[in-house]
Amino acid sequence: MIKDQLNRPLRDLRISVIDRCNFRCTYCMPADIFGPDFAFLPKSELLSYEEIERIARIFVELGVEKIRLTGGEPLLRKDLPVLIQKLSAIDGLEDIALTTNGVMLPKLALQLKEAGLKRVNISLDTLNDALFGQINGRGVTTKPVLSGIQAAKEAGLGIKINMVVKKGLNDQEILPMAEFCKQEGLELRYIEFMDVGSTNGWKMDDVITKKEIYELLKENFELEHTGAAYFGEVAKRYRYSGTDVHVGFISSVSESFCSSCTRSRLSANGQIFTCLFNGNGHDIRDFIRAGASDEEIRQRVTSIWNPRLDRYSDERTAETVKIKRTKKIEMSYIGG
Ligand code: SAM
Ligand code: SF4
Ligand code: SF4
Repeated sequence: MIKDQLNRPLRDLRISVIDRCNFRCTYCMPADIFGPDFAFLPKSELLSYEEIERIARIFVELGVEKIRLTGGEPLLRKDLPVLIQKLSAIDGLEDIALTTNGVMLPKLALQLKEAGLKRVNISLDTLNDALFGQINGRGVTTKPVLSGIQAAKEAGLGIKINMVVKKGLNDQEILPMAEFCKQEGLELRYIEFMDVGSTNGWKMDDVITKKEIYELLKENFELEHTGAAYFGEVAKRYRYSGTDVHVGFISSVSESFCSSCTRSRLSANGQIFTCLFNGNGHDIRDFIRAGASDEEIRQRVTSIWNPRLDRYSDERTAETVKIKRTKKIEMSYIGG
């Protein structure tokens, strides 16, 4: 059986379809670095939809059950529903999801759903327009994102809201976001600010931990712990008592989960990364363009995944961050 070629589980593939974005979030693509002269990837360097589909099919044969499309902003990639349609036809793929800033959902949510998309994670870090405009670096208000959430609801997509929490930036928004999402019946995920890439000026002191957020929520809501839905689920989830609304935490910094990490990543220009914090990826695009067969691609993926020893977050300290700072891939490139 093909799945037996891997000696460690690989369940989850995250595919970045584009490195560009219409936002410049301070914690992801700071505007002073990703300015008008920043050299984004030319189209010829991006994987085509046919190439993505082929690679995805091989990953599914090797055990991947879930694919999440991301970016940059994935909805900026032309005709994304066409890619979703192609991926939906892959035998054995159980779930296709998308992470987006939501701005283009009013235009695209229905097409995405019809193409086979099941779920969206929509990023929203505050309900305060002035602060949101400052965080996204473009002065955009929450209005288009809230319209995007509404459009996703109307299209029948599953929705989660992603909120990155950074000390001194949006920590005062923890409770208003909880209230809002609870009322709207939306699952909110608090994400600890991470040291992805080398441009966002990350400091350990800027991290508000899962425990701190949880304690604050506990003072204001009654919460019940709900277990992990499957091996490798990264969010720790709770339910507001008496409701079926959940809230989750991605505690990558304070309570890392490398030992159960079953996720590989494919960058927009066709590099495979076995960890979000890798410096270099493994090329697959040029290998394919040079005429590799499916069997050769399968062997390549196997030889990349099997020796994997990544446990960056388990080993992270203020010291390791300093040493590794210059070598990591940017979030906008690999997609979170
Ligand atoms: N543009 C889309 C969006 O914002 O949802 C998709 C790409 S974005 C890189 C994927 C996720 O990573 C978003 O939820 C974003 O908030 C999160 N993210 C970006 N930079 C982060 C950081 N430094 N620490 C933690 N999460 C981060
Ligand atoms: Fe763009 Fe998403 Fe990064 Fe914000 S978090 S800059 S929306 S890629
Ligand atoms: Fe997986 Fe790397 Fe994150 Fe650890 S640090 S959970 S190995 S992606």
